[in-house]
Amino acid sequence: SDASEIGRVNLNAGQRAVQVSPDVVKIILQARKVSLETQGAFDISALPLQRLWNFKSSNPRVPTKEEIAEKRHLVDFRAVVLDSNTVFLPRPEMGLDLGAIAKGYAVDQAVAILKKDGYSDFMVEAGGDLRTVAGELTHGERKIWVRHPRKPDEFFAVIKKDQCAVATSGDYERFFEKDGQRFHHIIDPVTGYPARPVVSATIIAEEAVIADAYATAVFVLGPDRGLELIEKNPGLEGLIVFEKESESDSMLGWKVSKGIVEEIEIVN
Ligand code: ADP
Ligand code: MG
Repeated sequence: SDASEIGRVNLNAGQRAVQVSPDVVKIILQARKVSLETQGAFDISALPLQRLWNFKSSNPRVPTKEEIAEKRHLVDFRAVVLDSNTVFLPRPEMGLDLGAIAKGYAVDQAVAILKKDGYSDFMVEAGGDLRTVAGELTHGERKIWVRHPRKPDEFFAVIKKDQCAVATSGDYERFFEKDGQRFHHIIDPVTGYPARPVVSATIIAEEAVIADAYATAVFVLGPDRGLELIEKNPGLEGLIVFEKESESDSMLGWKVSKGIVEEIEIVN
């Protein structure tokens, strides 16, 4: 699987290039494109920082400033050596994590299989990433609901769209609280800390791999630079929900890209 291939790449960091499947090569190439477009706000080589925070474990923690300073320079998508079918990480402590993009890629693969099998009206969903294929049945009927980032049982918005991919990155997916502060799993590679002030970023695109990667990227970039990135890319639309820093705590603001204004309704 992708996960074990990447595991081998990471184990051999600083030692040797590891052979990987065409799928992994495609994912890394796509990730690199998003990294270049975001000046590294999106970076699949952020694993050394994620290891410090340890969000995937049962006891994540806040690392010290010194620990972050020590690991930050290991995060550098440009240093990843990608060949036609091998990946090499030049420094022993480097590591890749495809968590921000691989799920979207898997959704696209599932869609391709279902299409090949003759299905023409369906939705594939995997933990916050989805893609719909619309035929006559759904024409003009499909609605995609976006979760409220602070109210677990409520929606924030609804999108009217027959066929598209939608991915949301949220700070509510994986987080812990310490001294009244929320620490979540989407890390700004520049600071080494969880990205602020976005709380959820939803991207609409043609393919789920694109929506997934840009949702994480826009989350890290923030509401202004994030929206700029969406508007610059003809294939992207999006909704960004963020904490208004100036107001009293937990006031949410939101921004919607121009191309989706007609199809999206804010319901909360
Ligand atoms: P989710 O996994 O909740 O659907 P995302 O698609 O946003 O959400 O992926 C978040 C995951 O991406 C994190 O758990 C981590 O593995 C990885 N990640 C965190 N920060 C970054 C970043 N700046 N660039 C790329 N990947 C990241
Ligand atoms: Mg993502």
